[in-house]
Formats: sequence, structure tokens, C-alpha cells
Amino acid sequence: MSQAMPPKPRPEITEDSRPYWDGLRQHRLLLQCCTDCGRLRHYPRPLCDACHSFACDWVEACGAAHVHSWTVAHHAFHPAFRNELPTVLVTADLAEGVRLLAPLQTEAPVTLQLGQRLQVGYWDVDPSLTVPVLRLDENG
Ligand SMILES: [Zn+2]
Repeated sequence: MSQAMPPKPRPEITEDSRPYWDGLRQHRLLLQCCTDCGRLRHYPRPLCDACHSFACDWVEACGAAHVHSWTVAHHAFHPAFRNELPTVLVTADLAEGVRLLAPLQTEAPVTLQLGQRLQVGYWDVDPSLTVPVLRLDENG
């Protein structure tokens, strides 16, 4: 017996995070950079962790990353994701020094290793929403 699939939850886009989501739609990963102390931060938020400034610019990440840790989800945290199980969620260290949590996107099952090289990719969910994904770096 099949059940109707509920819609997936969508991110709540705020004034603070709008440049991030706009960047993803252009297949660019933008990070906040504090204009007072220069510290990068991700995920988007209003305040600098280091100096508590509200002032920031946006800088584009190069897309290079490596595996910090991962988990394999066998249970959907939301019923809309149950057809995608199991899902590998990776915490990646970006080359810029901040971390990104995103699903691993692969053609076939893979064995991950700590420190393994990854590349940020983009999944166009629909014309108004793109989310980041992580892929194995083709160059090793
Ligand atoms: Zn700062």
C-alpha cells in the first residue's frame, strides 16, 4: 500500500540568509565574512562569532572540501525523505576553514574516509530552490 508523499520542508529564507540562497541558485556557495574582523562563518547568521559584529560581506567558496565526519541515515527525519534512504550526510571542512553539512551525492555506493577530498555541488530542487550537495572529488 502506498501513501502519498508529503511535500519536503523548505528553508526559511531570511534577510540574513537571502544572499546565500540566491548564490546557490547561481551555483555559487557564498560564505559570510565579517567586515570588522575578517572571520568567515557558515551557516548564515546575523552575528559574527568572534567579535559580535553585524557587518558582513559575502565571499565565494572555491568548492574544495574534505570529509570531517559523516553519518548514514537509515530513518527519515521527515517522511518526505523516506524514498531517499539510506542517505549519507557529510560534515565537510571547506578549504576556507568553515564546515558545511550536506548530503553526499554519488552514482553508486562508496566507502568514505576521513580527510577524503570532496567537491561542493548543487542540486536544483526547483527553479526557486537550490541546495548544496557534496560529491567525491574526481581528482582523488
Ligand atoms: Zn567579526
